[in-house]
Order: sequence, then C-alpha cells, then structure tokens
Amino acid sequence: MSQNTYDDNNIFAKMLNGDIPYHKVYEDDKTLAFMDIMPQAKGHVLVIPKQKAVDLAGLEPEYAAAVLMTAKKVMAAQRQVFAREGVIQMQLNGSEAGQTVFHYHIHLIPSSIHELGRHAAVQADNVELADIAQQLAKKIIE
Ligand code: 5GP
Repeated sequence: MSQNTYDDNNIFAKMLNGDIPYHKVYEDDKTLAFMDIMPQAKGHVLVIPKQKAVDLAGLEPEYAAAVLMTAKKVMAAQRQVFAREGVIQMQLNGSEAGQTVFHYHIHLIPSSIHELGRHAAVQADNVELADIAQQLAKKIIE
C-alpha cells in the first residue's frame, strides 16, 4: 500500500526510536546507516534520514544533503571492505515502484545491475550481517 502521510509505526521509525534491533554501520545527528536484512547482494546497506519523510517528495534539503554525505561514507567503506568498485545507489518512491517501507531510504548495494538479487526476498544470516556491519563501521571511523 502506498502512503501519502507518514506512519509513525513503520519499521524504520521503530529503529530510530530504539524499539527494534538492527546492525548499525554509521550514525550522526541527521542520519542512520544499517544493514538491509534481506540484501540484494552481500553488504547491502540502507541510509535513512532522522526526518519523517515517506519518500523523496517529503525530504527536506538539509536531510537530503545529510543522507547523501552519509551514503558517500558508506560507499567508500563498501569499496574497501569488498574490494570492488561497483556500488548501486537505489531509491524507490511509491508502492508502484516497489517501495515497501515508507520512510525515505537510499539503498547502497555492492553489485552490478546485471547481478542484482531479488528485492526484499531472502533473509540474511544475522551473524554474517553483524560481522559485515562491524567491518564497514570500522572503515568509516578510520
Ligand atoms: P524498499 O522496498 O522500501 O525500497 O526497501 C525496504 C528495504 O528494507 C528492503 O530492502 C528490505 O529488505 C528492508 N527491510 C525490511 N524490513 C527490514 C527490517 O526489519 N530490518 C532491516 N534491517 N531491513 C529491513
């Protein structure tokens, strides 16, 4: 179902409130980056603003800038950890486009468009996600 108004009970809002766990990669005052639980390739990260935006239409300029700056940091870390250049930056607006969580987010997927796995289909191993999150986080701090 598409949404025009922000639902405070969406899964990413619950993460921001500290109500459900996630594998954190990076956080600052305006953004949060964490592992996608159903990755389309190994190392799939989501970057979200700490602003209640359903999609790109509702994203405020300062948060738009902030999520992109965090995305740059995450991508640099992904390139180091996975020793590959290819990182797909993807962002879906509306259920027709395939959006399933209605809090704006950028996907960063170390992959090629020709190799990309199915969207939100297969749950990854929790231990592996924790390990990758730690490796990426370490590269961002360094
Ligand atoms: P969208 O379809 O809205 O562009 O992407 C939503 C993404 O959130 C999907 O890639 C999906 O795998 C991911 N996702 C859905 N539920 C959870 C969750 O509970 N935790 C995490 N970390 N990711 C989730």
